[in-house]
Amino acid sequence: MGARIIDGKAVSTLVRSEVKEDVEQFIAEHSTSPGLATVLVGDDPASHVYVGNKIKACEEAGIRSIHHGLPADVSQAELLSLVSELNADDAVDGILVQMPLPDHLDQDPVVAAIDPSKDVDGLTATSAGLLAQGRPRLVPCTPLGVMRLLAEADVEVSGASAVVVGRSILVGRPMAALLTNASATVTVCHSRTRDLGSVCAQADILIAAVGSPHTVEGTWVKPGAAVIDVGINRTDSGLVGDVDFDAAVERAGAITPVPGGVGPMTIAMLLRNTLAAASSLRRSAA
Ligand code: NAP
Repeated sequence: MGARIIDGKAVSTLVRSEVKEDVEQFIAEHSTSPGLATVLVGDDPASHVYVGNKIKACEEAGIRSIHHGLPADVSQAELLSLVSELNADDAVDGILVQMPLPDHLDQDPVVAAIDPSKDVDGLTATSAGLLAQGRPRLVPCTPLGVMRLLAEADVEVSGASAVVVGRSILVGRPMAALLTNASATVTVCHSRTRDLGSVCAQADILIAAVGSPHTVEGTWVKPGAAVIDVGINRTDSGLVGDVDFDAAVERAGAITPVPGGVGPMTIAMLLRNTLAAASSLRRSAA
């Protein structure tokens, strides 16, 4: 095995303890803690686990969580009305609507209704536009976590050739924007990319956010490259990423495992974003 393993669990523990300290300072200054509202529609077991983990992580960091569980048959109007109440509530600094929503609900208007200053998932058009313009405010948690992993692994981003496989609003696009803002030369690939392997082989930094097991082959990895695997795929043999880890680890300079790589960073950055939103809201109120 050649590559250094980038330990996302250790980095996420570090970020969470930093946030906890910063929250203590926030409470000392403002006599209140930052508040995150979580909205969960329906009974999807995986979503319940995700939201439960986020609430637990908030508690550990000293962040208040305000949970709203809505029935699976809630109407679009009722959901939008809750978002608008949360926008107006001074005790709420961040709003997280757990996706996916049940089929009868339209996700886009719900995201659009979130006040961008409370958009801790960084999914509104305002957040995405500011990031694309190089003046980010609240940035999607997973790509933000990837940037922290690269920094902790001492990967030089400025001037590097970076390839991002995937162009979703949640991961691929904000990832490409963050790398561009950090002065990498960025190529974004997707399902129509021709000869994906030869594009990946140019990458000093290779990010896989595809959602299909082992799409990125070991021979596509440039020797010495940093490989970040965002994918989380449930298979019969357990959780695997989008990269063929066993082959890629032989060529990469540094690589994230799945699990234990990018996954733990997402919640840590959600805590960071909630504190950032709370601090910025207090500054604008002052
Ligand atoms: P997504 O919305 O389904 O987007 C997948 C992207 O991959 C699309 O842009 C798609 O291209 C591209 N793609 C699909 N098959 C491809 C192929 N064979 N070759 C090249 N590109 C291909 O998924 P996502 O939300 O970005 O998530 C990606 C993965 O990250 C999933 O496994 C997800 O579970 C995981 N994830 C992990 C975390 C975490 O906390 N670690 C957070 C979020 C997501 P088109 O645009 O052309 O369709």
